[in-house]
Amino acid sequence: MANLGIPQNTIAVLQRHQFHTQKRYGQNFLIDGSVLDRIIRAAQIGPKDCVLEIGPGIGTMTQYLAEQAREVVAVEIDRNLIPILQETLADYSNVTVINEDILKVDIGRIAQERNGGRPIKVVANLPYYITTPIIMGLFESHVPLDSITVMVQREVADRMQAGPGTKDYGALSLAVQYYAEPKIVANVPPNCFLPRPGVGSAVVRLTRHAGPPVQAEDEGRLFALIRAAFNQRRKTLCNAVGNVPELGISKEQITEALERMGLPATVRGEALTLEQFAELERHCPERKK
Ligand code: SAM
Repeated sequence: MANLGIPQNTIAVLQRHQFHTQKRYGQNFLIDGSVLDRIIRAAQIGPKDCVLEIGPGIGTMTQYLAEQAREVVAVEIDRNLIPILQETLADYSNVTVINEDILKVDIGRIAQERNGGRPIKVVANLPYYITTPIIMGLFESHVPLDSITVMVQREVADRMQAGPGTKDYGALSLAVQYYAEPKIVANVPPNCFLPRPGVGSAVVRLTRHAGPPVQAEDEGRLFALIRAAFNQRRKTLCNAVGNVPELGISKEQITEALERMGLPATVRGEALTLEQFAELERHCPERKK
């Protein structure tokens, strides 16, 4: 089968199947072989690995993954792509295509059945409209994961990697960094895709921490605190967080907790590190049941 990392071959497949890309599924297919090589290298795929690919499209990256991995499971929502994938992946006996919505698939079960419950690697050129639910879903479901190497919108990659005090720092940075170490490995311009997206892209590798880097009393409350702090980022932390009913923490209690940490009552959420958010959560009085 022809290498799809070459634009002419992708165009030929699309024409032969009279396939028209769908915006609503975020279909921007990769047509640059050097970008594909970089993704595979960053993901560090070896012959023992079981890889989950989200959204294989016409199978371009799937071919590259299948060359390196022991096994690839590719989950694609668009049923019109399934006959194309059958053709483009015909030479690979180590690929299974599942026609499903990734947000509805039991990934833990895939890891169990295909990899004996050992950590899998996730690799994808993600559909940008659901980047955050996919990434957070993978982390929060506690699926055994080694790493996630994904193409995302450049701006989202920057937010994942950002630290305190920067404009990109927010709830996504803290959530991602709680679970993994993010690293941007490549910036990718629109002309590497067909059709070209309206935004710049980046490949980011998220390497799962062995355990959480900070200790919270209650993980759910830590994330609720972080979300509340950044929901109204122009407000001080006390005003943004105090009196949010779901949290059950008053403005006075937050002020007192900040004081114990040596932080001023006027501090904003964007100034706090993940460790400081965890400390703040531990200092806040237990929620009344
Ligand atoms: N991997 C291909 C490539 O690199 O050329 C295609 C990437 S394209 C950016 C995103 C792919 O995700 C599309 O094939 C799209 O149909 C698929 N997709 C969109 N939403 C999905 C969902 N909820 N579950 C599974 N696949 C989805």
